[in-house]
Amino acid sequence: MSSFGKKLIAWYGKNKRDLPWRHTRDPYLVWLSEVILQQTRIEQGLSYYFKFQKLFPDIHRLADAHEEQVLKAWQGLGYYSRAKNLHATARLISTDLKGEFPTTKADLMNLKGIGDYTASAIASFCYGEKSPVIDGNVIRLLSRLYALEFPSDTPEGKRAIRELAEELMDDDDPATYNQAIMEFGSQHCTPKNPRCSDCPFSGSCRAFALREAERYPVKKKRVVVREMSLHYLVLKTTEGLYMRRRGNDSIWKGLYDFPSVEGEYEVKDLVAHFASQFQLPGSFELSHVSNEMKHILTHRKIKARFYEIRLKRQLMHPHHGWLFVSYSHIAQYPLPRLIDRYLIERGFYA
Ligand code: SF4
Repeated sequence: MSSFGKKLIAWYGKNKRDLPWRHTRDPYLVWLSEVILQQTRIEQGLSYYFKFQKLFPDIHRLADAHEEQVLKAWQGLGYYSRAKNLHATARLISTDLKGEFPTTKADLMNLKGIGDYTASAIASFCYGEKSPVIDGNVIRLLSRLYALEFPSDTPEGKRAIRELAEELMDDDDPATYNQAIMEFGSQHCTPKNPRCSDCPFSGSCRAFALREAERYPVKKKRVVVREMSLHYLVLKTTEGLYMRRRGNDSIWKGLYDFPSVEGEYEVKDLVAHFASQFQLPGSFELSHVSNEMKHILTHRKIKARFYEIRLKRQLMHPHHGWLFVSYSHIAQYPLPRLIDRYLIERGFYA
């Protein structure tokens, strides 16, 4: 074992957190945990991991579930394509592969939603393949150890990181090595205030020698965040309200929300706009206008308002794609977090 690997694994033995997915080599549970933890903090991911394990204890139960059940269980985690891919892949493994997970990184990467990182994690944790995991924690650590000046989000930077990761990877125990390197990046070589004075690698770390640890990894691309103003129409009766299922071209595909228009409008103009956009019959009056609610996604900053209109009875000819949902059933529908927050704030859950 290399001296780097030895120091890393020694550090891990003393400092690792006790997390449930570290006690299993079951590829279903490892896969579940890895998909949940993409773009999610561990504290938040834990409850979802337990929930999924309880609702869908094995790959066949997940495969047999209806997609809306899976999306409902996922509600609040965001990035819903993860849940859809999870479900599609469970179906494929359950039927085409008779419930058997592929055992190599190359074969795992043929599955929907399983990219380089997740394939390496499953292949090394469950089958001992020597395949380095490369996540944000590993990128930060390697960029600092070698003071890499290539931005880590360029092809040159990615290549340099991969070469280093493969060179340093330990042969004897790839599973523990991969867990250790990610844990070290996440707990010790942190983005802000890395613990350099107490670090087993401070003697050889170039960023530390330069006294510039926090300058690494060097970044190039900036995410462009688009601002959106959404105005939601909430048509309600005493029994329920109208919702619609978002189509495939939407940020929230497959989830339910309300009909909406985007843009800057004066409140007084909106009712007329709703009426013409959605061909509403008769005249309507607003019964409530919400405060502005903010919701932040990776590429979007959403400002939303909800305009409630009370109907005496259900519409004879609702707009195409609208669905009347009774208050007692709303909780069964998968919803974007923004809509869930609004329904809670307004006490719509029966
Ligand atoms: Fe990270 Fe500092 Fe250790 Fe270098 S010395 S690996 S920057 S914690």
